[in-house]
Amino acid sequence: MMEDCIFCKIAKGEAKSWKVYENDDVYAFLDINPVSEYHTLIIPKKHYENIFDTPEDELIKVMSVVKRIATLYNTKLGIKNIQIINSSGKEAQQDVFHTHFHIVPRESGDNQDVKWTTHKEWRVKFDQLLSGLQ
Ligand code: AMP
Ligand code: ZN
Repeated sequence: MMEDCIFCKIAKGEAKSWKVYENDDVYAFLDINPVSEYHTLIIPKKHYENIFDTPEDELIKVMSVVKRIATLYNTKLGIKNIQIINSSGKEAQQDVFHTHFHIVPRESGDNQDVKWTTHKEWRVKFDQLLSGLQ
């Protein structure tokens, strides 16, 4: 538990949330600033900041709940399109520093549009980029 972490408080039931699902290790609840109906956050109950410090076994538990909720929304609500989003780090647009995955249901005409600026011209650098991993 991190003092002043809103998601720790939510996981412990000390702050208001709209719970979708929980088990011993993972908590899922509606995002308070939804970009679509059923926009959901899935978090480990233990405090980790983001992908970098979250142990693999915790991530597996979280992802298992992501799958469970995607399936629930598909079977119960007929939702057939979702985006699963994790931002890790301030420059990656992470705002709450307790590991979380967004499930964002999408549908035609929802007026949402995630746009990336692409750089095909960087293909010439791929070999060099990969050599940086050696
Ligand atoms: P991110 O930019 O990926 O760190 O997203 C953080 C998300 O947490 C945002 O979509 C917020 O709307 C959401 N959020 C912040 N506080 C709360 C809260 N108390 N209950 C539910 N969602 C929250
Ligand atoms: Zn926390």
